Amino acid sequence: MNLLTWIILFSLLGGVLSVLAASAFLLVPEALRSRAMPHLVSFAVGALLGAAFLGLLPHALAGPGVTDFHNITLAVLLGLLGFFVLEKLVLWRHCHSDHCEAHVPEPKHDHGHAAGTLILIGDGIHNFVDGVLIAAAFMTDIHLGVVTSLAVAAHEIPQEVGDFAVLLHSGFSRRKAFLYNMLASLTTVLGALLGYFSLAGVEPILPYVLAVAASSFIYIAVADLIPGLHKRLQPIATFQQAVLIAAGVMVIYVVHSTLHSQ
Ligand SMILES: [Zn+2]
Ligand SMILES: [Zn+2]
Ligand SMILES: [Zn+2]
Repeated sequence: MNLLTWIILFSLLGGVLSVLAASAFLLVPEALRSRAMPHLVSFAVGALLGAAFLGLLPHALAGPGVTDFHNITLAVLLGLLGFFVLEKLVLWRHCHSDHCEAHVPEPKHDHGHAAGTLILIGDGIHNFVDGVLIAAAFMTDIHLGVVTSLAVAAHEIPQEVGDFAVLLHSGFSRRKAFLYNMLASLTTVLGALLGYFSLAGVEPILPYVLAVAASSFIYIAVADLIPGLHKRLQPIATFQQAVLIAAGVMVIYVVHSTLHSQ
């Protein structure tokens, strides 16, 4: 299989398949769904941190042409600060619950599709960037691409469930919500293609793109997902979260080390 085929297949996995999984998840009764959501989010935290620290960062530091490690960690730092600013612009915000305060600030005054449109734009931009990162990871090494796509899919599924809920709340029909969400997730493939063609020939940039990918994953896990987990303080919830975070890390660890040694 050539590199471009890998990239297209796995960006479809990260984008389109997450929407399909999320819409299947919407068929589950709401009570069960809101019980399962935190588990998905915990797992995603582990997968994101695992992919960042066990896959992306080591490969960024070991990148060919990297003469000064400091520049890689500087890129991670700038990435984190950049995502902080992006989130201020409500472009990087993820939704994880049926009632999201970030995207539906005042439902009573929201008569239009404003919240839904905003989330589709934000989602589209976010997925586009995920696509570029997937391409950069594959161009570094196929096994790194696989691990990165897994981490993208892990956090996209709970996000898309939240996105669906916001779209339905803001007046979209189920059909339209599905269609628009699907369109917004196709931007992953678009980003991957653009990443592939614009990064080909400028391979020395790849380690820095990996560093930004790592900062994106770290930011989403630590600043976006973990605060939601702290809303459940019972010892049993904490225990479940710890187990699922560990499971997310383990899946990435096992997949990465298995493929890496090949
Ligand atoms: Zn939201
Ligand atoms: Zn994402
Ligand atoms: Zn590796």
